[in-house]
Formats: sequence, structure tokens, C-alpha cells
Amino acid sequence: MDRSAELSANLNKVKAELPSTVTLIVVTKTFPSSDVKLLYELGQRHFGENRDSEGAEKSEQLPDEAVWHFQGGIQSNKLKSIVKWSDYIHSLDEISHAKKISQYAQELGKTQRCFIQINLDAGEEIPGQRSGVKPQQLPEFASAISGLPALEIVGVMGVGPLNGDPNQAFANLQKTSGSLKALIPAANYISAGMSSDYKIAIEHGATHIRLGSSILGSRSPAP
Ligand SMILES: *Cc1c(COP(=O)(O)O)cnc(C)c1O
Repeated sequence: MDRSAELSANLNKVKAELPSTVTLIVVTKTFPSSDVKLLYELGQRHFGENRDSEGAEKSEQLPDEAVWHFQGGIQSNKLKSIVKWSDYIHSLDEISHAKKISQYAQELGKTQRCFIQINLDAGEEIPGQRSGVKPQQLPEFASAISGLPALEIVGVMGVGPLNGDPNQAFANLQKTSGSLKALIPAANYISAGMSSDYKIAIEHGATHIRLGSSILGSRSPAP
């Protein structure tokens, strides 16, 4: 099977079971632009990247109709570039980053749409561990950034636990989404679920799923 047929089969398999209200983002990190172009030709429009340099390069090579999502860890010195090429940032979890995003977006004459990343780790905090705003701190965080002129909060994003119950984590995320919507009713998106756990995420209200390996095959080594 050639690459296009392989990608097409993988896409169709996932999409056959996907509710029409759920947006599929294909995470193309580490895969070449040629794969992104094939996916585009197959009708796929939403793409996700974790690194600024890769996203900048690939987005340049695709038609404007492609929609680009950044979901990697944010380095503030890369933010200006990320705001240039991304339509959505999923990994916002610092007020200082939000201020910079709004400033850069304003300079470019755009409004940057952002998900607030929520930390779904249960129990004790592990130093230097996973990113995200703690669910109980979300109202304060959202209030602090909601007045920024060129930043639009569209919802919450979460990464399921490495070891642990994705059901509990995504239920927690859905609850947290409720507390965000109480403050900002339009911020009703939930970005949750990767190849291993997206079906569970959809049961808990995911509106956007981020799939890499189930469409493109395994990445080796992970970035
Ligand atoms: C890599 C990545 C994905 C896609 O992961 P797969 O397991 O390949 O589906 C989704 N979300 C984030 C934040 C990622 O870093």
C-alpha cells in the first residue's frame, strides 16, 4: 500500500466512528511535510504541532485553508513565531505567556484563539512534572487573562494521565470546562484525547481530539 492509501485507510477508520460534532486534529509532529500534504489532499484540514520550528515550516507549505494547532510546551522566546502560524494554541498555562500572546497577536492584527491547559494529574504534586493550570485555580487564571484585547479563550485542554484512569481525568476536565463556561459561556471547547484514549475523552464531552500515531503510525523516537 502506498502512503496515501495507508493514511486514507487510517483516517477513514477513525472518522467512521467519530461523532460529526468532534473536530479531528491530526498531530503531524516529527512526520514530514509530504505526509501533511497527502492528508490535506485527503480532505484533512486540522493539523497539530508541538514545536515552533516544525509548525512554522509545515504551515508555510500548505494552503491557507489548513488550520494549525500548537499543543507543545510553550517557550516564551518562541511565542512570537507561534502566534504567526498557529490558529489555536492548546497549551496556555501561564499569565505572562497570555500577555505576550495578546501583544504579538495585536501587532499582527489578529485574535489568537487559546485553550487553557488543565493539569489532570490526581494526587500529590510531582516537581517538574506535567503542565497545566490546576482545576481549582482555573477561575482565577481565566479572570486574569479574560480582558486581554487580542486573546480569545475557547475552552480547556487536557492530557490524560500516563498511569491512571483516563475516565476520572476526563470527567474532571469536563467538570472544569463547566466552571470555565460559568465565567465565559462561549469558551465551550474541550480538547482531550490522544490515540490511546480518545474514545473515552469523547464520552466525556471532548469537542477536539488530537491524534498522531493512530493516523500516521508510530513516532520513533518521540521528540
Ligand atoms: C503527541 C501528542 C498528541 C498525539 O499523540 P498520539 O498518541 O500519537 O495520538 C496529542 N496531544 C499532545 C499534547 C501531544 O504531545
